[in-house]
Amino acid sequence: MKIISPPKIITGLYHSLEWAMPAGVEKKIYLSFDDGPTPSITNFVLNELEKVNAKATFFCIGKNIANEPTLFKEILASKHQIGNHTQNHVNGWKTSTTNYLQEIQNCEKEIQNQGCKCEPKPLFRPPYGKITRQQIKALKTQYRIVMWSILAYDWLPEKNENQCLKNITAHLKNDAIIVMHDSVKASENVKKTLPTLLQIVKDKGFSFGLI
Ligand SMILES: [Zn+2]
Repeated sequence: MKIISPPKIITGLYHSLEWAMPAGVEKKIYLSFDDGPTPSITNFVLNELEKVNAKATFFCIGKNIANEPTLFKEILASKHQIGNHTQNHVNGWKTSTTNYLQEIQNCEKEIQNQGCKCEPKPLFRPPYGKITRQQIKALKTQYRIVMWSILAYDWLPEKNENQCLKNITAHLKNDAIIVMHDSVKASENVKKTLPTLLQIVKDKGFSFGLI
């Protein structure tokens, strides 16, 4: 069975990572899109967000920013939030801490080169959610390490849009951080899911927050 919401044993063990946003008075959820910018699907996501006046956080891959600088600037111009997702989408468990930090620094350079004004403490999300304790220790003073509350599993070809939608709506709760992907793999599911999801979230009275 796929784990959509991380169990307490995991969030407790890795308590210096962010698994949800702090409880607020307003009913809010936090949408995030990983692995872009990707032609076509990132444009689609930006359009759909704009239709309902929603903001989201994009955890971008450095090499994709280098390949698609104009698209990256469109994300910035729409006032969405940017996070670092390494230069080449590396797995922390299979990468030395030195190389991992270099990957993050390279991605940060791509972000800055496009004129992104990063927040005082920039955001980082580990690809595959895989990061070692040593890597966390090396990063946590400099970055907010953002995980998630809900995974849509939108990148799996065997999932159809109804399953992706159900993964999210069945677990929807205040302050949840939701992960979707503006990647080629997830493209079909995101195109079929996102418009309905945004409507459901609005109908349930949530607003869209920035991490
Ligand atoms: Zn990723």
